[in-house]
Amino acid sequence: MITAAPALTPEKAVIPLPAPRWQEHWRQAIRDPAQLLAALALDPQELGVSAEALAQFPLRVPRSFVARMRRADPSDPLLRQVLPIDAEMQVVPGFSFDAVGDGAAKKATGVIQKYRGRALLVATGSCAIHCRYCFRRHFDYAGENAARNGWEDAVAAIAADPSIDEIILSGGDPLSLTTAKLAELTTALAGIAHIRRLRIHSRLPVVLPERVDEELVQWLDQLPWPVAFVIHANHAQEFDTAVDAALARLRGTGAQLLNQAVLLRGVNDDLDALAALSERSFAAGVLPYYLHQLDRVQGVAHFEVSDERATALHAGLMARLSGYLVPKLVRELPGDTSKRPL
Ligand SMILES: *Cc1c(COP(=O)(O)O)cnc(C)c1O
Ligand code: SF4
Repeated sequence: MITAAPALTPEKAVIPLPAPRWQEHWRQAIRDPAQLLAALALDPQELGVSAEALAQFPLRVPRSFVARMRRADPSDPLLRQVLPIDAEMQVVPGFSFDAVGDGAAKKATGVIQKYRGRALLVATGSCAIHCRYCFRRHFDYAGENAARNGWEDAVAAIAADPSIDEIILSGGDPLSLTTAKLAELTTALAGIAHIRRLRIHSRLPVVLPERVDEELVQWLDQLPWPVAFVIHANHAQEFDTAVDAALARLRGTGAQLLNQAVLLRGVNDDLDALAALSERSFAAGVLPYYLHQLDRVQGVAHFEVSDERATALHAGLMARLSGYLVPKLVRELPGDTSKRPL
C-alpha cells in the first residue's frame, strides 16, 4: 500500500534545539571579576582589582566579548575596558559627576537636547557591557529613562517642538530594550511630521552581536525614515566574524553605519591601533565618525590621554590613512553648540 506520508528517518525526527535568543546571551554575561580573570588565566592581585570600584559600577561583560580577549595578557585592550581597578577610586581634581552637563540639558523625562535639531532619548539605563570609562557610570538612569509611561512624555516633548528633525536613541544602550518596546516608540514617532531622520547609538552589535536578530532587522526595514546607526568600537580586536555578520545584517536594512570610539590610555592610544581600528571598521562596512576625548568624570582619569598627544595621534592618522578613514577628534563640553574639535 502506498501512503502519502513521507518516510520518517530517525535523523529527520530529531528536532534541533533553537539557537539561544539574545536575552539568553545577555543573561550569561560575566559579572564576577574572579571568574573573568580565571577564564583568562590572570591573577586578580597583580591587576589591582577593586571591590570598591566594583560596588560603584558593577562588572558586566558578555562571554563572546571575553572570548575576543587574549589569554594571560594583563594589558589586553578589551580587558582594560571592563575590569574594575584601584585607579578608579582616586579622586582627581577636574573630574566631576556630571561632566557633560546632562542635568542642565534635560527637556523632558529622558529627553536631552544640547544641539540644534537633535533630541537624544535616554531610552534605558541598561547596557550589555559596563565600560569603565563611561560617563554614565554616575547617571540617574532609574529616574531618567524615556521609555517610562509608554514613552508618553518624550513623544509629547518632541511633538511640541517642530525644530527637532532627528531623534537619537541612546542610553544606556537602546537596543537593550526589546524590539517590541522600540517599535512602540517608533510607531508613536511616525505620527510626527517634522522628524526626518532616526539615529541609533548602540554598542550591542559589537559586544552582543546576537542582538541583531531577524526581528530587529524587520523593525529597521520598515521604519519610515533614513537611519544612521552609530556603533561603538575602540579597538580592531573587538571585531570578529559574528560582529561582521551582525553589521552586514544592519547594512542590509539600508542603514548608514558609523563608529564612535573613545581615545583611551592603555587601550587604543597609539597610531597603529587607531589606524587598524579605522581599517577594520571599514572592512565591516562602518565609517569612522568620532574619536572622543573622554568625558572627565570621577574614576576615569587613568584612561585620559593629553590633548597634545591626542592631536599628534590624529595628525598621524591623517598622514597615514585615506581621508574618509580619519575620525573627527572631539571633546564634549557643557554649553557648547556641538562637539568641539580639538
Ligand atoms: C553627542 C550628542 C549628540 C549628537 O551630536 P552629533 O555631533 O550630531 O553626533 C546629540 N545630542 C546630545 C545630547 C549629545 O550628547
Ligand atoms: S555601552 Fe556605552 S553607555 Fe554602556 S557602559 Fe559602555 S560606553 Fe557606557
